[in-house]
Amino acid sequence: MSATLQVLEPATEAVLAEIPRAGVEEADAAVARARAAYPGWRAMAPADRAKLLHRLADTIEAALEELALLEARNAGKPITDARGEMGMVLDTFRYYAGAPERMLGDTIPVGGGQSFTVREPLGVVALITPWNFPLTIAAWKMAPALAAGNTIVLKPAELTPLTALRFEQLAGEVLPAGVVNVVAGPGRTVGQRLVEHPDVAKVAFTGSTAVGRAIAADAASTIKRVTLELGGKSANVIFADADLARAAAAAPMAVFGNAGQDCCARSRILVQRSVVERFMELLEPHVLAIAVGDPLSEATQMGPLISAGQRDAVASYVPDGAPVAIRGSAPDGPGYWFAPTVLFPVDRHDRAVGEEIFGPVATVIPFEDEAEAVAIANDTIYGLSGSIWTENGARALRVARAIETGVLSINTNTSVRVATPFGGFKQSGVGRELGPHALDAYSEVKSIFYATEG
Ligand code: NAD
Repeated sequence: MSATLQVLEPATEAVLAEIPRAGVEEADAAVARARAAYPGWRAMAPADRAKLLHRLADTIEAALEELALLEARNAGKPITDARGEMGMVLDTFRYYAGAPERMLGDTIPVGGGQSFTVREPLGVVALITPWNFPLTIAAWKMAPALAAGNTIVLKPAELTPLTALRFEQLAGEVLPAGVVNVVAGPGRTVGQRLVEHPDVAKVAFTGSTAVGRAIAADAASTIKRVTLELGGKSANVIFADADLARAAAAAPMAVFGNAGQDCCARSRILVQRSVVERFMELLEPHVLAIAVGDPLSEATQMGPLISAGQRDAVASYVPDGAPVAIRGSAPDGPGYWFAPTVLFPVDRHDRAVGEEIFGPVATVIPFEDEAEAVAIANDTIYGLSGSIWTENGARALRVARAIETGVLSINTNTSVRVATPFGGFKQSGVGRELGPHALDAYSEVKSIFYATEG
C-alpha cells in the first residue's frame, strides 16, 4: 500500500493534496497519546475545560473562511454551503462549551444514607466520519465528547481528510497535547483498528449502514459503546391541502442539496394523487433553475459528486429508459457531475425507490390518503428524517407521530439544529447526536451510596 494518500478535488479531478497515509501503527500511537492526555483532561475543573472549549471556538471562528474554502474544494460543495457548515461547526463548539458545568446528576431517596449519581467520561473515544459533511459531522461528535471529559481520536474519510487535519492543528494551539488526535487512513485498517483497540472505550460512527453493521459486530468483542448514524431514504410527504407552491419550491434542495449526498435527503417525494400532476408542473422550473457548477462560485447551488465511483453508482439508478420526468443541468468536462434528476412515474419495486442513492436523484410517488402516505413512508429499512406538508395541523401531528424516523419537520425541510437531538430509528442508527442528548452518549452514569447510619 502506498505511503501517501492522494486527495482529489471532485470539481476538477486534480490532485489537491498528498498527505501521509496513516496505518495501524499511527492509529495505535494516536490512541496512546489520547490515553496519556485523558487523566489531565478529565481532572480539569469544569469551568477551566469550558474556558478552553470557548477558546477553541474562537480559534475556529478566526479560521472560518479558510476552513470553508478547504471543505468546498475537497468535498466539491458550494462555497456558500461550506460557509454555513463551518458556521455550524462553530455553533456546535459554542453550544457544548457550556456543557462541562452542566453535567448534572440526581439525588435519589433511599434508606440508610444518601444516594446520588454523577456522570463520568468514558475515556478515549474513536470518531469515524464520512465524506459528505466532513468537519461538521466530526464536530457533532468532537464537541460533546470533549465537553464530557473524554479525549478523542478522529478518523476522517479517506476522500476528505483535509479540514480534520487542519482542525487538529487549530486544536493543538489551544488544548493540552494529546486531547485531540486525527489519523487519516483507510477504514479497513485504521478504522478497524480503532474499533478493535482495547484502550478505546467508545466508537461514534457516521457512514453507511453496511459499515455500521460491521462496526457494531466488531465492537461487541470489547463491549464498546457505539453510536451509529447511518443511511436514510427519507420521505417528503405532501398532502393536497398543503401550500403546493411552497412545497414544490422547497422540495428540490431537500434532495439535491450537497448533490444529494445527504443522509437526510428527502429522496422520496410522496404527493397526494389528486394534486400530483399540478405538483410536477410547479416542481419543474425549480429543478431546472438549480445552478450546478464550480463550487467556488458564489452563485453555485450544487457541485459535483465526491468521486467517479460515486457518480457511477448514482448513474446505475438512472439506466437508459428510466422514467426521467425532469432533468436539470450539469457541466461537461472534468469533474464528477450528475444533473438533478426526478423520476416519475416510477415502479414501487424500482431500486431507485427502495435504496439510498446518495446522489441527486428523486422519485415522486403518489398516495391516496393519510393511511397510505404513512404506510409508504414507513416501507423502508431506514428511519432517519422526513417532512410533512399540510395546512391541517391535527393531521400534521398525527402523521409526525406515525412516521418511524428520528427527526421530522412540518411545512419545511430543515431538521438539523445544534440544540435539538438528531439520529435514526430502525437501520438508520443507534443513539442521538446534538442537543442535550448527545452528552449521554459520551458519559456513564455512576450511582454512589453514602451510608449515614453507624
Ligand atoms: P462509509 O460507511 O463507506 O465510510 C464512513 C467511514 O467509515 C469512513 O471514514 C471509512 O473510512 C470508515 N470505514 C469504512 N470501513 C470501515 C471499517 N470496516 N471499520 C471502521 N471504519 C470503516 O460511508 P461514506 O461512503 O463515507 O458515507 C456515506 C454514507 O454515510 C451514506 O450511507 C450516508 O447515508 C451515511 N451518512 C449518515 C449520516 C447520519 O447522520 N445518519 C450523515 C452522513 C452520512
